[in-house]
Amino acid sequence: MSTILKTEVLIIGAGPSGISAAIQLKRNKIKTIILEQSKPGGLMLNANLIENYPGFPNGIKGVDLANLFLKQYKDIGGVIDFEKALKVNFNQSINILTNKRIIQTEYLIVASGTTGIKLPVILDSVDTRRRFFTEIDIIKGVSKKRIIILGSGDCAFDYALSLAPRNRIWIVGRSKRYKCLDLLYEKASRIKGIKYLPDTTVEDIQQKNNEIIVTCTDKRILVADLLVFAIGRKPNLEFMGKKNMEENLIPKDMIYYIGDVTNSSNRQVSICVGNGVLAAVKISEILRKKWKSLQKLEEKI
Ligand SMILES: Cc1cc2nc3c(=O)[nH]c(=O)nc-3n(C[C@H](O)[C@H](O)[C@H](O)COP(=O)(O)OP(=O)(O)OC[C@H]3O[C@@H](n4cnc5c(N)ncnc54)[C@H](O)[C@@H]3O)c2cc1C
Repeated sequence: MSTILKTEVLIIGAGPSGISAAIQLKRNKIKTIILEQSKPGGLMLNANLIENYPGFPNGIKGVDLANLFLKQYKDIGGVIDFEKALKVNFNQSINILTNKRIIQTEYLIVASGTTGIKLPVILDSVDTRRRFFTEIDIIKGVSKKRIIILGSGDCAFDYALSLAPRNRIWIVGRSKRYKCLDLLYEKASRIKGIKYLPDTTVEDIQQKNNEIIVTCTDKRILVADLLVFAIGRKPNLEFMGKKNMEENLIPKDMIYYIGDVTNSSNRQVSICVGNGVLAAVKISEILRKKWKSLQKLEEKI
């Protein structure tokens, strides 16, 4: 891993915020690398129907919107590098260690989104990766399964709507009333296969003989094949390193946090797009000034 690749801008994450920044930078002819550890499109791939993104009056499936973002980027010659950012180091310049190489960049855009939070689970020896999830992208195709979704926010109800037609769903929420949009609750209420259990706290989750056993504090026991956690998300920033984060080592105009990674509970595609374009415009402006002053210097010589 000795060769160091140099770029003007490096973007970590090809969700809507990262792709929006990349499109704008490409239009401004700025040398950009965008890294994606998994599938481009990010969390949009999990969304059942996105109804609040302007331009689509009838709503659009998350996966279709993700494909349109990607098409727009690819149509202008954009490329995505399938690599995971492992560590960001700063020592005058920003160096990113990935699972393939080291990349040195003048500006870094962190668009790495969020990771779902899980509750502890008591397991037997069976492989847990096939039974416990925080996103549903990879299980959208399953059928005839009993699925418990923990949480009662937008995410929980949206997941239920995507999985319900072919499966039996329980949405288990701690609060007395659902926390999702009324619209989502009403849609879910019309579907026979979805049962919502409000005011229900989980006491214990165990996996025995290929079944998931959830015991609630009211001693109710639910048995399922799959369990989806939709109980909150936290920023995906482990590659930033404690020192960089705590001591703000990287100068402010060299690093930009955009999208869900910085938007707390305001997780919306349109906000991500705005964040991405703004970061790209700011970086382009700084680079333009740099180029101009270099040009002037050359003219003098
Ligand atoms: C079920 C559901 C329904 C939703 N419905 C709507 C809706 O109706 N309307 C709406 O506006 N929004 C909706 N959202 C929210 C929307 O999807 C998110 O706000 C948006 O996708 C966040 O974009 P992002 O680019 O910030 O992050 P993400 O979409 O999370 O993308 C981050 C990307 O970074 C990659 N990454 C992370 N770490 C690394 C690393 N170390 N190296 C390389 N790559 C990395 C990830 O793999 C991911 O692809 C919904 C979300 C969910 C889950």
